[in-house]
Amino acid sequence: MVANFVSADFGWLHSPDGMETVHVIFKAGKTQDGYFTNDDILEQTAQAMDIVQKHYPNDKHIFIFDNATTHSKQPASTPSASRMTKNPSTKFGVEVSLSIDGKVQYAVNGKPQKRTIQMGPGCLPNSEPHCFYEGNVFKGMTKLLLEWGLTEEAKLKGSCKKGATRCCQRRVLYNQPDFDDQESALKIACKAQGFQAIFLPKFHCELNFIEQCWGHAKRTYHQYPLSSREDDLERNVLSALESVPVAAM
Ligand SMILES: [Zn+2]
Repeated sequence: MVANFVSADFGWLHSPDGMETVHVIFKAGKTQDGYFTNDDILEQTAQAMDIVQKHYPNDKHIFIFDNATTHSKQPASTPSASRMTKNPSTKFGVEVSLSIDGKVQYAVNGKPQKRTIQMGPGCLPNSEPHCFYEGNVFKGMTKLLLEWGLTEEAKLKGSCKKGATRCCQRRVLYNQPDFDDQESALKIACKAQGFQAIFLPKFHCELNFIEQCWGHAKRTYHQYPLSSREDDLERNVLSALESVPVAAM
């Protein structure tokens, strides 16, 4: 699998001398490099931003991403009501991968090790942060609703299967503005560096011309001689990508 950035004006993203690139070649599957995750795309985007900042500082750059779940993932600590308990709990939190120096730690069974962190704060009506915990204890949905001033809603049952707007506490929380309107980790990272990030409409990756670039490269790749050597194949992939003319892009 290859992940890359492309511009209709400049082609595949690289420094003018071609030495700094952002393409990632990824051997997908459990026994290989695993799967391309949101952390991988964040790292790749950070490199992309470094290159455009350093070598193309006079252009205005906008990053456009397909609306895939790998891209649109929110930071782990983003407020979410989906597993919140009605009553106080010492266990409620968000599971994140345990990583040391940016490297995910794996258990003996090959699964990533997890640790539980506290969910990030919401927002009170006066715009102050709304902490969901008292010390180590999650406050529970009833208390959170009361603190928002939603006294009637705090009397509702915790959750139900109806899915109306005000059928239960969980549904009310889903519709709280600070739960409803959360930005992806990718957008937050781009903004922090002063770049705009746009997501294409869901299920419309065909709007992204990178799809035609992949198609062009695949056709070229198929014309190369067969080989079972990984280094041949990797070289063929890179040369097939290079063969896509900027004019065609
Ligand atoms: Zn409900």
